[in-house]
Amino acid sequence: MKALITGFRGQDGTYLAEELRAHGREVIGFTRSESGNLDAGRIHSVDYRDGRALGDLLDEIRPEEIYHLASPSCIRDTLEYEKEILAICVDTTLIFLRWITDRSPATRFFFAGSAEIYGDPVVSPQNESTPCHPENPYAVAKLTGRELCATFRKTHGVFASSGILFNHESPLRRADFVTRRITQGVAAIVAGESRELVLGNLDALRDWSHAADFARAFRLTLEASHADDFVFASGKNHSVREFCEEAFAAAGLDFRDYVRVDPAFYRPDFAQARLGDSRKALRELAWKPKIGFKELVDEMLRHDLEVVRR
Ligand code: NDP
Repeated sequence: MKALITGFRGQDGTYLAEELRAHGREVIGFTRSESGNLDAGRIHSVDYRDGRALGDLLDEIRPEEIYHLASPSCIRDTLEYEKEILAICVDTTLIFLRWITDRSPATRFFFAGSAEIYGDPVVSPQNESTPCHPENPYAVAKLTGRELCATFRKTHGVFASSGILFNHESPLRRADFVTRRITQGVAAIVAGESRELVLGNLDALRDWSHAADFARAFRLTLEASHADDFVFASGKNHSVREFCEEAFAAAGLDFRDYVRVDPAFYRPDFAQARLGDSRKALRELAWKPKIGFKELVDEMLRHDLEVVRR
């Protein structure tokens, strides 16, 4: 079976490719990049805004599964960024759903959404029925992508599912996210390259999982008997402080000796922490995370210690 992954070179794309190959798929990747290891048969450099070229390429590849993961994964405050996020989550999603409807009705589609759609959540924990109050263009784009899946599901019978994704991390997490900043910071201190780690609000709470667990969730979503929306989350909140404590302790250090708080790094935090309720995924997909918080932190730290050692 042929599976197409957009955002193939990102964190989730890398774990998903591994997961799908282990389950017998032939994996094809899309990237915007024109450099690196581009293999004409398996990795394609594409312009996601060019509907005609994308359609021709899809006609050629004829994927039976499409996992649409491509998108900026962090939030920025510029017009260029806002146009990009809407284009990839809305316009490109529409191109895929139209191609499936018109040219390949049996192809199954997965959209990577985000818990950002809840904004400042009105209830806790959040599930598939929780009201959405997007507070930035990223969240608007993710909510619209989810709505497009639901619309094509209802009106055209397309197997289009979306994941409402809470935070998920790994040694492949980009360095501008707090988890990776912490594990890279600890590794730099251990290597003597740095003396302190500057962070924002240590009390900020997050629902963190491991990206490998999410790759399995994406596969199970497209293997299900029917298409739907699913929340994927650990269902547990941990603070940035706890993440620091664990990462420094795993390196034999006390975080209080090294972490300096700078309010300039504070991000707006909501009255109620986002916390995911994945009971529907457990019930219908038999999915729950296998990798716990401590294992996640330890794996990320081990990886970054190995990098500085090398
Ligand atoms: P990454 O940033 O690691 O990977 C995303 C990939 O998308 C990049 O490698 C890039 O690939 C591609 N991309 C980035 N910007 C654009 C753009 N403007 N247009 C088209 N493609 C773009 O993110 P993750 O793998 O962590 O996330 C995967 C998906 O899950 C994303 O849609 C993200 O929004 C969503 N998500 C992730 C969460 C998390 O905690 N990780 C939480 C909630 C949602 P290339 O440059 O090769 O084209």
